[in-house]
Amino acid sequence: MSNDVILRLANIESSYGPVQAIRGVSLEVRKGAIVTVLGANGAGKTTILKTISGIIDPQKGTVWFDGEEIQRKNADWIVRRGISHVPEGREVFPLLTVRENLLMGAYTRKDRDGVAPDIERMFVYFPILRERQHQEAGQLSGGQQQMLAIARALMSRPKLLLLDEPSLGLSPKLVKEIFEIIKRVNQEEGTTMLLVEQNANIALSTADYGYVLEVGRVVMQDTRERLLEKEDIKEFYLGMS
Ligand code: ATP
Repeated sequence: MSNDVILRLANIESSYGPVQAIRGVSLEVRKGAIVTVLGANGAGKTTILKTISGIIDPQKGTVWFDGEEIQRKNADWIVRRGISHVPEGREVFPLLTVRENLLMGAYTRKDRDGVAPDIERMFVYFPILRERQHQEAGQLSGGQQQMLAIARALMSRPKLLLLDEPSLGLSPKLVKEIFEIIKRVNQEEGTTMLLVEQNANIALSTADYGYVLEVGRVVMQDTRERLLEKEDIKEFYLGMS
């Protein structure tokens, strides 16, 4: 992992009408790292990812990515610059086959010859998707849809992958499997990842660095090792005391 920062949020404030969801958030992600944002339901985690990927515009602050400010750019431009977002609830195209979903993920690519080999690579990470490649995505289980959503996002060859609660609604066994694949992709492809999670146990087993968000503000940030030692993290987020 290098020390180069690829993403920097400075004093971001984002609202939904009168509801201010993010109240001055600053954070950094280094190239090649897995960084997690932890927090309870409603803390503002999803809003941070939506602000980065251009789904919502912040009222204040800057989002700097890979050499330029991107906070007023639209979502399509941001995908083309190298940020891919796996939203909460997966949102695959249910009536398209698994393979068609993967092709949709590559829509921004100019190197058309690289697409088929990349689908093959996704099938190595997610062997179940090879088996199901001709089935409609809507027929997959929740865990398989989560795998497809991640694989589809990787098909654009992003520099930064945003993952919104990949553990949501999945069995502990599947969660473990998916996070092992996330770690492998990070190591083998060098993809930088920003992961938001309520499940602090699994997020901190994978991430290098973490931020804790409460009511739209960062209240703590540290390396994985040091966060795991903190008593209040153990008590409130890991269910230990
Ligand atoms: P969750 O785990 O539920 O996704 P979160 O930490 O990701 O929680 P956000 O979804 O970012 O939290 O929500 C932050 C705040 O913004 C909450 O108070 C939420 O009620 C509010 N909020 C989120 N989306 C909207 C919306 N579309 N309209 C109005 N308020 C919203």
